[in-house]
Amino acid sequence: MSRSHISAEQNAAYHAALQAILRPAQLLLAGGGSALDAVSLAVELLEDCPLFNAGHGAVFTHDETHELDAAVMDGATLRAGAVACVNHVRRPVRAARAVMEHSAHVLLVGAGAEAFAREQGLEMVSPDYFSTEARREQLRRALATDAAVLDHDGAALVFRTPAPGAAPLDEGRKLGTVGAVALDAQGNLAAATSTGGMTNKRAGRVGDSPLIGAGTYADNRTAAISCTGTGEMFIRSAAAYDICARMAYAGMPLEAAAREVVMKVLPALGGRGGLIAVDAQGHLSLPFNTEGMYRGWARVGEAPVSAIYADAVEGFAA
Ligand code: ASP
Repeated sequence: MSRSHISAEQNAAYHAALQAILRPAQLLLAGGGSALDAVSLAVELLEDCPLFNAGHGAVFTHDETHELDAAVMDGATLRAGAVACVNHVRRPVRAARAVMEHSAHVLLVGAGAEAFAREQGLEMVSPDYFSTEARREQLRRALATDAAVLDHDGAALVFRTPAPGAAPLDEGRKLGTVGAVALDAQGNLAAATSTGGMTNKRAGRVGDSPLIGAGTYADNRTAAISCTGTGEMFIRSAAAYDICARMAYAGMPLEAAAREVVMKVLPALGGRGGLIAVDAQGHLSLPFNTEGMYRGWARVGEAPVSAIYADAVEGFAA
């Protein structure tokens, strides 16, 4: 998301998409809806939007297929549901929610997850539904350099296999995993995350997004967290849970805990990315260690705000 590589029109398209997603979720909360319903709705809308790396517009694996991961967590009960490596479920976050609400399990993967989604009556699509030309082009570029690419910051987060830490490959890549966190009027927190993973990832690779505690976590006693970035490092550091643990055990405020993880713990492992978080008092934290992160927030009764780069100056309120 290098600033110089995003045109004014692209900028406007991202802000418009973020605003279009924030408003219905805000309305739902204003009408007394639950945090769980708000994050599910926001993530479904993000999955439907081709600009982001989830659902329609998901990145390609090395085999030119799609493998989608998603998770949802209810901070009131610590119930959670997730799916990984699905490629026919139109909105994977719905499948994650169904796992949480209608199964005895937390995480279902691959064919079993798809059979369950079908049984639950969820909308199924041909894998082509997820494909876009822009993502195919990203894969072509990644294949040309044998890199697994994080669809994350425009500065192009590139993992070379086998040599980690290679220089950025392409300035045009965009951050894409989607997530939402919310606090509702009842004081309940929830988090949801959905992703196509990383361009050129190996078939069968599962990232942090569907792993409870790594890319997604919510606990009414502390915070709701949804992460985006180099999934392997978020898994290794149990990033989302680490923030809640710092709050619970060390009494850290959300912002300090989230910044510690994003600015110190993850970079120490070579991890790049960011997260969105809200605590039980309604404090927000949206730290990232990349040049930008598409993000937005909305409080009931206030205009939604969307932002892309690190400086708040371009924060956009419609
Ligand atoms: N965290 C995601 C994954 O590793 C990728 C991303 O956030 O863009 O699957």
